[in-house]
Amino acid sequence: MQKDEVLRLLRDPNLIHPEKLTLLSNIAAQAASLNMPCYVVGGFVRDLLLRQPVNDLDIIVEGDAIKLGNQLVKTYGGRLTVHQKFYTAIWHLPDTFNLEPSTLDLITARKETYEKPGALPTVTPSTIEEDLRRRDFTVNAMALRLDGEGFGEILDPLKGQTDLERGVIRVLHPKSFIDDPTRVFRAIRYEARYGFVIEPETASLINPESLSVLKRLSGERIRHELDLILDEDEAAQMLARVAGFGVLGAVHPKMPEFNQENKDYLEMDARLDVPADKRAMGYALWFMELSEADVLSIAARLDFTNELTLAVWAASQLWRGLPHLVGSKPSVWTYALEKLPLLSIYAVYLILRENDLLSYISIWRHVKPRTTGNDLKARGVPPGPRYGEILLRLRSAWLDGELTHETEEKELLEKLL
Ligand code: ATP
Repeated sequence: MQKDEVLRLLRDPNLIHPEKLTLLSNIAAQAASLNMPCYVVGGFVRDLLLRQPVNDLDIIVEGDAIKLGNQLVKTYGGRLTVHQKFYTAIWHLPDTFNLEPSTLDLITARKETYEKPGALPTVTPSTIEEDLRRRDFTVNAMALRLDGEGFGEILDPLKGQTDLERGVIRVLHPKSFIDDPTRVFRAIRYEARYGFVIEPETASLINPESLSVLKRLSGERIRHELDLILDEDEAAQMLARVAGFGVLGAVHPKMPEFNQENKDYLEMDARLDVPADKRAMGYALWFMELSEADVLSIAARLDFTNELTLAVWAASQLWRGLPHLVGSKPSVWTYALEKLPLLSIYAVYLILRENDLLSYISIWRHVKPRTTGNDLKARGVPPGPRYGEILLRLRSAWLDGELTHETEEKELLEKLL
């Protein structure tokens, strides 16, 4: 793309926030004053050329990112965290910039070598071209120059622009997925997000050899990739593709396919007072029909937090146990459901459409007697388990429709005392 056109896109406030553009110009000015070639790379360039709003700024410097960082702090304020070993710095932006996120990574162009498939790479400083070669896909391997006269020039040695126009996701070399199998998930994410296709030769590299490396990835790294998929609008389509490539079996032998009939439920309904955790909802829907042993085994493989394990486990328990509750009184429903995370209950409601679950979420769980522990104390009830019993009895009476007015509660209380 011509420089004029790039500059026009950079000035489009629908694509890049004006504050962000100011930040880029400031970085450009300081890099130029140090005669230091400086670029923004990766997703920023990809999204800008696709004329989509840009997100994170990834800044790469040929030379010394720490030196540029110090100069930025000296000129504009904020502070710097330095990682000498990796030749990188984090610039904590001054408050006056008013930007989210409020930090910016400054990275020295680097070369990476993978000593062992799937392990983290060894890093040495290098040129921008080498830096682009270590990236995942051609569409992510472009740089936009920031310093001096070059401002707005696109560096595209791996023909990312052609692939953007064709709508293909292509790795840079045949060993890419073996070096880093998390790229399999990334390819699937970009493909569905942009309506692209994974180029056939690249797709053929998602094969038993790379899947055997993926099998050895840590639970944390795999879960992170699945989390990112669940964050996306086209998550269900992506999960179908994950299954289609045979990735699920490599993660865990009991990992099921995501049921595509449930795809609309991945978008949380904000009208209900249920925590809108799209990831937890995604996993609860995905694993609900598994046995307890399989849920726990997959949760361990994916290194779920205790909270997430509980949410998924509770959904599967409730899904299986629901027939025993159907037809119960509201108080029975309420005391059974109160032990479970709300999100799990809602997930089961979405699948089984049992109306009593919705009554619990929107009404029953809020029902409380007017009488409190203090009232019982004032009435001279001696401390002990009687408090809980009385309050529970009153609450059940409200829930089950035995009481409809406060005076009736008082009458019942008199009988109980
Ligand atoms: P997204 O919109 O999904 O966040 P992004 O391109 O900003 O896309 P990041 O994960 O923030 O994605 O990564 C920034 C850049 O770093 C990518 O564009 C890519 O060039 C490079 N990159 C990230 N992960 C990898 C990887 N596993 N292997 C190689 N390069 C990677």
